[in-house]
Amino acid sequence: MSNFLEDIIEKDLSSGHAKTIKTRFPPEPNGYLHIGHAKSIHLNFGLAKKYGGEFVLRFDDTNPLKEDIEFVNAIIEDVLWLTNLKKEELKVNYASDYFGIKYECAISLIKKGLAFVCELMPDEIRRSRGTFEKKGTNSPFRNRSADENLRLFEDMKNGKNSFVLRAKIDMSSPNMNMRDPIIYRVIKDAHHFRQGYKWKIYPMYDFAHPIQDAIEGITHSICSLEFEDHRPLYDWTLDNVFDIIQNASQNKKDNIPHSSLPFRSRQYEFARLNVSRTIMSKRYFKTLVDEKKVDGLDDPRMPTIAGLRRRGYTSSSIRNFCLSVGVAKANSEVDTRQLESFIRNELNATAPRAMVVLDPLELEITNFDDTHKRLLDFSYNITVGTDTLSIEKEVSRKINFSKKIFIDKSDFLLDPPKNYNRLTPDGFVRLKSAYIIKHISHEKNEDGSIKKVFAEIVPDSLSGNDTSGVKAKGVIHWVDQKTAINAKVKLYDYLLNEESDGDFLDNLNKNSLVTVNAKVEKHLEKSKQGQSFQFLREGYFVRDEKEKDLSFNRVVALKDSFKM
Ligand code: ATP
Ligand code: MG
Repeated sequence: MSNFLEDIIEKDLSSGHAKTIKTRFPPEPNGYLHIGHAKSIHLNFGLAKKYGGEFVLRFDDTNPLKEDIEFVNAIIEDVLWLTNLKKEELKVNYASDYFGIKYECAISLIKKGLAFVCELMPDEIRRSRGTFEKKGTNSPFRNRSADENLRLFEDMKNGKNSFVLRAKIDMSSPNMNMRDPIIYRVIKDAHHFRQGYKWKIYPMYDFAHPIQDAIEGITHSICSLEFEDHRPLYDWTLDNVFDIIQNASQNKKDNIPHSSLPFRSRQYEFARLNVSRTIMSKRYFKTLVDEKKVDGLDDPRMPTIAGLRRRGYTSSSIRNFCLSVGVAKANSEVDTRQLESFIRNELNATAPRAMVVLDPLELEITNFDDTHKRLLDFSYNITVGTDTLSIEKEVSRKINFSKKIFIDKSDFLLDPPKNYNRLTPDGFVRLKSAYIIKHISHEKNEDGSIKKVFAEIVPDSLSGNDTSGVKAKGVIHWVDQKTAINAKVKLYDYLLNEESDGDFLDNLNKNSLVTVNAKVEKHLEKSKQGQSFQFLREGYFVRDEKEKDLSFNRVVALKDSFKM
């Protein structure tokens, strides 16, 4: 099924309105990308790919007060990761490269009587814009002569005043964006990461965006719904400055990409992606980090691409999720569990199985002699190739078994609930890939909790070769004590509580991170950072890419009731 943007593109291609299509992803380098941006990237990149067109990453670097090269680099890395492009295959442009042409466009508007320098203070401008019910009032500076405007704009450019340049449109327009919007402002003494101190005036988004789209020959400028009301200004701008862009382009001014011909771009809007139980705005990310609610922008609880990657999400799982969400014209919220289901299904097929005890309880087997090493077969149980994992390629491996093992505390209960298929007093249970054991006795701590369990192996009950005739109720996982190693395991949960309204800081889930000291199979010592596993009966885990010591992050639990 095609989406509405594909319908538009197909119409434009068949009518000849566009010979080929070109899309862009235009982030402001003022923070890290999040899953919502991934949606926009896959939409723009996907459309260009589908129709044999071009895709560019263009930084909207028009505010030196907020932007930084650190974010530029992080965004490039994320886009490469998401699109699977090589560095040399990704076209990267910068809005700031066209500041010269934008300046010429502003001059041209002034000369055409379509822009004026306004001396009102910001709050005066705000007040004079009126409301939805009330028309705005004209600025007293609206009718200056072009010459005076040119002189004052020149002063703005030289940092001699702090006025603004406003488009002269219509203060009574029902669209607030058309009420003489600011198109240029003064930002003095701020260092721009590409331009240094060259500019003291900076164009506003609504003015800069259509110009840079047109310069680059972007045929379909796709943005989120909140820009719908800005579209008339987008069109107004191009209606009035396209001649300047064409001219500059012919003379190869600024860094106009040579492959591009200016195009009378059009803007199209789609619904932004919202995901439940998380926060989706760069501004709020900063608050979370500053208030130390999370451990940096790449904290595995964060919906940033860097956070998701560290959490163990693959770029294919994110792409498939974005595709599954589709392209809509109405805002809605997607259940986080839908995102989780994609990584879960993928890891179910690709993640080698391993045994890890998160909450260890000692268990001693009284009738087992381990003077000789005992190795058992344990299956990796993956259904597709291990090439991305490059752990050993066999389907199974040997694991140690000995007299003393660890089981999980929750797998032995004195007073079990109904249908508890694990170890109970005098009960039987199978140890995964090993023997059936029978409970004999246990020791308690002073507080009454279980300290240690003693059990016996049922003779002839080895997995795959069981002639014992004994039926064990269930199967539990375990780790051999002799060879087990320690690892930190981080159990992540959602950032926000289920019911949340009001300030997001009041709705943070206090249990979004629980760290446990686990006993893990020695085998995991060989794992690589970023490598994922299924810890049997516990979930999918990834070896943390940052921590040097053995440390795993829970990607997602094993099962979920969510139905797509
Ligand atoms: P934030 O509010 O998180 O700071 P932003 O919209 O200011 O996001 P930009 O860098 O301006 O971030 O966004 C770049 C592009 O990504 C824009 O075209 C914007 O429409 C798109 N985008 C941002 N958030 C989402 C989202 N949640 N879903 C889809 N597209 C998005
Ligand atoms: Mg923005």
